[in-house]
Amino acid sequence: MQFRSTVSELPQVSFKDAILDCLPEDGGLYVPSQMADLRQFFLYMDDGINYQDLVAAVSPSLLESGFNPISASRVAESAFNFEPELKILDDNISLLNLYNGPTGTFKDFGIAFLAAAFEELLKESPNAMILSAVRGDGGINMERAFYGRKGLISVLLFPAGPIKGLNPDTFISNGGNIIPIQVKGNLDTCQKLVNMTINDRSFSKRYNITSANAINPGRLLPQSFYYLYSYIKIKKKLSGELLYSVPSGNFGNLISGLYAWKFGLPVSGFIAAMNSNNAFGDFFKGKKFTPKPVVNTNSPALDVGIPSNYARLSSFYDESPSVMRNMVIPSSVSNDATIKTMEEAWKNYGELIDPHTAVAFSAAKDYIKADKNQCSHVIVLATGHPAREAASVKTATGQVTDENQKFHLLKKEAAPIALIDPHLDALEGAIASCVR
Ligand SMILES: *Cc1c(COP(=O)(O)O)cnc(C)c1O
Repeated sequence: MQFRSTVSELPQVSFKDAILDCLPEDGGLYVPSQMADLRQFFLYMDDGINYQDLVAAVSPSLLESGFNPISASRVAESAFNFEPELKILDDNISLLNLYNGPTGTFKDFGIAFLAAAFEELLKESPNAMILSAVRGDGGINMERAFYGRKGLISVLLFPAGPIKGLNPDTFISNGGNIIPIQVKGNLDTCQKLVNMTINDRSFSKRYNITSANAINPGRLLPQSFYYLYSYIKIKKKLSGELLYSVPSGNFGNLISGLYAWKFGLPVSGFIAAMNSNNAFGDFFKGKKFTPKPVVNTNSPALDVGIPSNYARLSSFYDESPSVMRNMVIPSSVSNDATIKTMEEAWKNYGELIDPHTAVAFSAAKDYIKADKNQCSHVIVLATGHPAREAASVKTATGQVTDENQKFHLLKKEAAPIALIDPHLDALEGAIASCVR
């Protein structure tokens, strides 16, 4: 598959190059320029297949020359010791649990594949350094995925504020391969420093530096694999149309679903489930997007003003606006409805769901209620582990989740290896003092 920039007519690049150099020089984002057709796999695959085998089978078609079947199964195996889990609740609704990874969110799926792919693609050039600007849970996702990967050092640039959930055992100073650095500035400052370091050619050559930020296409494309997986698991039981309901903040997960559709997945629509931060709904209806101030809700990962994948979504709409208006159905869910839905999911199905999942669950229920034919099936993406949001779960259901302990560690503060001024030489000095 080839990739192009969303901004200008730069030459197209391979998936391998789009992963390794995740930001095109023109300031755009990489998007696929023509899509692979993966129907030959998921239409005929046995529904007993496990996730690793599915990923190993489909990823060579995406990475082409970058991967052969042997390296693809090596990557699938080393990325995934966790699996998505489809729970069919009744004829109309299912949950796709995506929270079984190390940090308890769906983001583990994309980043785990990317980290394993980096290890494979860079094995000829040992001691590559992956530089990323991160915030909050994003740092934990990266740390868990890159820790212990052979020949890779992961440098994480955090903005000012508390750093939570990192495990000091993974730090380079303790024999690991993670270098957390805090920058006196915001996330933008961190991202600018990443770009400046990469553009300092002699430095980035010496340390063999590439980047892996949140909008790397190497995270979004592998997220399409769990959409394919859920379809394989449910295809024999479907009698009508299939839709997905996706709790959406930066819309990375939704875009991955749209990729799955472009790969040939027979899906009738995606519900873009938002909380009260729903300004982006206008865009889906074909109107102009006017950002509004962000309000805090009980589903904080969806509290986003301007989605970082805006340019990517626009490129879908530029290609075929009338199709897209049918494909993506915006929906907005209040705090109260979120809690009420958590309560109902527990009462009616015996399922504990987190508030982000509840936003999508509520939107799915609304859709099913309004569906005249009553034969649609909606798969709700369960993006976060209920124990990560133990307080809301307790309020809504009275239940105390039994895995609190595991996620408790994610809230513990950790000190970075260095605290630096927002200057290139400060960052380069900090890196040089960690790596000889
Ligand atoms: C990040 C996150 C989301 C939002 O995903 P986007 O790809 O940003 O739309 C939803 N739920 C949880 C639990 C998350 O961590």
